[in-house]
Amino acid sequence: MSQQNLESLDVGAIREEFPILQREFNDEQLVYLDNAATTQTPDPVIDAMSDYYREYNANVHRGIHHLSQEASIAYEEAHDRVAEFIGASGGREEIVFTKNTTEAENLVAYSWGLNELGPGDEIVLTEMEHHASLVTWQQIGKRTGADVKYIRIDEDGRLDMDHARELVTDDTAMVSAVHVSNTLGTVNPVSDLVEIAHDHDALAFIDGAQAVPNRPVDLEAIDADFYAFSGHKMAGPTGIGALYGKKEILEEMQPYLYGGDMITKVTFEESTWNELPWKFEAGTPQIAEAVGLVAAIDYLEEIGMERIEAHEEEMARYAYEQLAAEDDVEIYGPEPGPERGGLVGFNLEGVHAHDLASIMNDHAVAIRAGDHCTQPLHDKLGVAASARASFYVYNTKAEVDKLVDAIDDARQLFS
Ligand code: PLP
Repeated sequence: MSQQNLESLDVGAIREEFPILQREFNDEQLVYLDNAATTQTPDPVIDAMSDYYREYNANVHRGIHHLSQEASIAYEEAHDRVAEFIGASGGREEIVFTKNTTEAENLVAYSWGLNELGPGDEIVLTEMEHHASLVTWQQIGKRTGADVKYIRIDEDGRLDMDHARELVTDDTAMVSAVHVSNTLGTVNPVSDLVEIAHDHDALAFIDGAQAVPNRPVDLEAIDADFYAFSGHKMAGPTGIGALYGKKEILEEMQPYLYGGDMITKVTFEESTWNELPWKFEAGTPQIAEAVGLVAAIDYLEEIGMERIEAHEEEMARYAYEQLAAEDDVEIYGPEPGPERGGLVGFNLEGVHAHDLASIMNDHAVAIRAGDHCTQPLHDKLGVAASARASFYVYNTKAEVDKLVDAIDDARQLFS
């Protein structure tokens, strides 16, 4: 990415498309730096969902009437659009819409894990897993007798890949890892992890919740067996996420939820399952949300995923450098660069992360404080909580400066 291309990202124009960014609190304009939790929604996404409700709201798959046909086409084609966006060569059959990343993790854990795992099998995770995968696989381990093991992180918050090679053996049945850590910002070498898993005939699940929103993702290259992400972290609506699964594996798996739409034939004795992906989408799905997700993908692609990635890297680098200049700020995770995504997790000495977030809030700066659903990782870091500033396409360096000013305030208040 050349500097020239990077500069051509017009953040001012982008900001105008996000009405919420005009909000003010305590007479100060909102500075929204909680994007790793949920991003804001641009007009084209809001409009697409509003058009759906105004023009073609109806249930899908079942109706003969015009509205149902239009809704069905939009809903079904949304799967194709997601497949294209993440490079899933098998098209819509490989894309299951879920509520979010968490539900995608649970779908695979329950549908594949409960049926395939037993004593002697091993599930390999990383120490930086989000609870969405850590708690889920932990429970599947308890219920099946499979052991759960964790790939270590090094002092800089990178995965210890030598340990990964040691830990993954022929007993490993599943390797599940975050693509980008929501606490450390680390971008993991996911293709290498997938290759290590496949060398031992294990499956690989990659949690792309913090990757798909802000970098090009090509599943053809990554070759993961499963991959998941959430719409609400990528300028899309809440209530929808996607699970990618290789067709041949999804075909072999049992359904996760039972009910309408996921069947072909039902008698009082027996039922047979619908084709992919509908076999995994029981009941009335998230139709408006699927429409919104497509609008979000269109919106992001219009800006360009490479440019979004470069902008986030620039924001994270600027924030990292400002914070690293403060003696009493501890930053977690790798230095800025290709191995760090668009977020910075940190602590201010002597001030609890919650207090820091509260002082920031007084200045209308929205950050996250807590364990970010990575409690074991925080245990490993030796802290109960951390503060996290996370960036998206609409953030500016001036907003990072406001964050740093608010840290000064907190320091004075607590000294
Ligand atoms: N995985 C990672 C890395 C995340 O950051 C998150 C959310 O913060 C999740 C999974 C869970 O996402 P959701 O709450 O949308 O299911």
